[in-house]
Amino acid sequence: MLLSGGEYRESLRRYKPTVYLDGALVESVADEPRLAPGVAAVGETYNFAKDTRHRPLMVATEQSSGAEANRFLHINRSSEDLLHKLEAVRLVCQRVGCAQRYLSQDALNAIYQATHRIDAETGGELHQRFLAYLHRVQAEDLTLGAAMTDAKGDRSKRPHEQSNSGAYVHIRERRADGIVISGTKAIVTGAPYMHELLVMPGRNMVEADADFAVCCAVPIDAKGLTVITRPAGRPGEDAAIFSGRYGQSTGVCVFEDVFVPWQCVFMAGEWQHAQFLIQAYAGHHRHSCIGARAGFGDLLIGAALMMAEANGLDAGGNNNLRERMVELIKIVEGFFACGVASSTYAVADASGCAEPERIFANVGKLLLSTQIYDMQRIAHDLSGGLIVALPGPAEDHNPATAAKLEELWQGRDEIPAERRRDVARFLGDITASDTAGWYSLISLHGGGSPAATSMEIYRSYPLEDKVALVEGLLDRGLMAEQGEGSDQPGRCCDDGCQAPEKEKDGA
Ligand SMILES: Cc1cc2nc3c(=O)[nH]c(=O)nc-3n(C[C@H](O)[C@H](O)[C@H](O)COP(=O)(O)OP(=O)(O)OC[C@H]3O[C@@H](n4cnc5c(N)ncnc54)[C@H](O)[C@@H]3O)c2cc1C
Repeated sequence: MLLSGGEYRESLRRYKPTVYLDGALVESVADEPRLAPGVAAVGETYNFAKDTRHRPLMVATEQSSGAEANRFLHINRSSEDLLHKLEAVRLVCQRVGCAQRYLSQDALNAIYQATHRIDAETGGELHQRFLAYLHRVQAEDLTLGAAMTDAKGDRSKRPHEQSNSGAYVHIRERRADGIVISGTKAIVTGAPYMHELLVMPGRNMVEADADFAVCCAVPIDAKGLTVITRPAGRPGEDAAIFSGRYGQSTGVCVFEDVFVPWQCVFMAGEWQHAQFLIQAYAGHHRHSCIGARAGFGDLLIGAALMMAEANGLDAGGNNNLRERMVELIKIVEGFFACGVASSTYAVADASGCAEPERIFANVGKLLLSTQIYDMQRIAHDLSGGLIVALPGPAEDHNPATAAKLEELWQGRDEIPAERRRDVARFLGDITASDTAGWYSLISLHGGGSPAATSMEIYRSYPLEDKVALVEGLLDRGLMAEQGEGSDQPGRCCDDGCQAPEKEKDGA
């Protein structure tokens, strides 16, 4: 059953999680004003699915059951599914900045693939167990947090080498009816207002790390789970005209002897498969990040143009402005195009899941990671200093100042002063407040640091094919074309392959 945003908010009352915010226990997540922008943002993923105009994008049919599901809970089977997901993420992020719920889909798809892969090796039933879980999540229209990033402790050490074993979530006990886990997941988007968390391993593992190779689903109010969180967006701040309404919280999730029944355990010690799960998740998630930041980029493009026009300038007729607008568009549509390419060149996994093509997904994510700073710079450049210099909303109704300020805010005659003021406030909110810093950080590190993304590109890129291409163009490279290897030292053996006699002779 598809819920509305209001029903999602009400559904949170079924859970009694232990959540700390600004040093105090939260009585009711559904009623907590400092979390309300996060609940509202996730709520829109429900509202959009109920809106008939957006149904084709926001609602999908689960192939394994024939049932309808919210797009953000769907297992992708084709390029079309991936394109729909990419566009759905962009659509909702245009409304709320960050839709958050796509992380549920990214994790579900990765676990779908990983459980299939483990069973293929062990002959087990993890995949069937996961399917049963997936169908329940879809039927109840839940929102799931992706709990992958561990506290990690000393980054130079593996999980089993840490002096504090709680730096990584791990299995403390195996029982007949389930497992008991402890440890900390350090950054979980939307944690307090999730229904459940999908715990996944946070790094590749060696055999000694087997107890840290754990993947399972945990209700947000599981006994022993504590979420330490922060406000979503800028609730209660008058000037936060956007992030006071929509925002994102993150939570530190501390697991202390949390019991997980076997039916919710999808990996328990299969350390050889941790890297596969992480890479699959990263591919799905980086693909989603592209859609998310494109939606945010759409807001910047629209607001920057409105600001320039309210300032009395015609971007179309002014070379300088036009160039900067085009630069902004080029950045946003440039990384979005990587998402489209990644969807188009989707790779069919043995499980039947369509995985975004990894190189394009990672290149798109890497582009947006750093270009978010350029996006904000261009928006600042186009809009001028007013976006940070504007007096607060209290002055809008101050009889001593309001009229004077309104005169000053007037730019182009046809555009009301309040409109210029509101666009300036909107741009200040999303490009120059702590919310703006948050957008930078989530773009840079969310889904993995630039170094992790670069590593994935280097690992996946067919470098050898490119070398073979050039070798094929060089006379001596004809050997490689004939399958006789390379003659460059170190490429196929320490000394390089011997060139045939006739080439040595210059024949
Ligand atoms: C707003 C926000 C929301 C997020 N939401 C989620 C979420 O929902 N779920 C989730 O699981 N994660 C989430 N993340 C976490 C995100 O995936 C991590 O921030 C990212 O993977 C980087 O990890 P870190 O923050 O621990 O930084 P670190 O690992 O401390 O990295 C800092 C720097 O050190 C480098 N580094 C780290 N280890 C090594 C090493 N061994 N050798 C060399 N260099 C190293 C990194 O490349 C980076 O440059 C979120 C992050 C943000 C900012």
